[in-house]
Amino acid sequence: MARYTGPVCRLCRREKVKLYLKGEKCDKACPMDGKKPYPPGEHGKDRQRQGSEYLGQLREKQKARRIYGILEKQFVNIYSEANRSSGITGENLLRMLEMRLDNVTFRAGWASSRSQARQFVNHGHVLVNGKRVDIPSYRLKKGDVVSLVGKTRENIQVRTNRDTLARRLPAWLEADGTGFEVKVLNPPLRDQIDTQVREQLIVELYSK
Ligand code: SF4
Repeated sequence: MARYTGPVCRLCRREKVKLYLKGEKCDKACPMDGKKPYPPGEHGKDRQRQGSEYLGQLREKQKARRIYGILEKQFVNIYSEANRSSGITGENLLRMLEMRLDNVTFRAGWASSRSQARQFVNHGHVLVNGKRVDIPSYRLKKGDVVSLVGKTRENIQVRTNRDTLARRLPAWLEADGTGFEVKVLNPPLRDQIDTQVREQLIVELYSK
């Protein structure tokens, strides 16, 4: 699956908000905190766009895509599925994004960012119910147990992340005593998802 490989700070600058795409590094040096707090491009600094309703909806969708690292086509497919499912479409959408294997690997505190989590999954470091799964978009279900393979638990990067990241496990996940295994207790409710996305705007965008 193709993915964006350019400078990620441009993405935050485009959305005019810190998306924390580099994990904890974002707390140390961030262009949004001083050097370049304006959109990228030659005229990014000068251009003041009129904020139309459509632009607001578009930016919200782009923000969600960038936070979870998903390409447009894949995002549209997830939205379509969320729309077909029973319940509130916007909440279904966020729930489906949260239940991705790369996101749970990130939420578990094993990876400093979602892109690092995706790399761990791609490289076969993550197990679901004891079986290796190397598909970052793999959708977990209630009761699934996600863990790291034995050797990876000794990996210095993983240990550093686990010991230093002050990330609280969301209430819909439960860790075992080792901290290298988490169980999906339930699909998350909206108030258990701390992603700062106004999903209603995304629904309005795709409903046009
Ligand atoms: Fe975004 Fe992090 Fe870059 Fe800041 S340092 S612009 S939060 S990716």
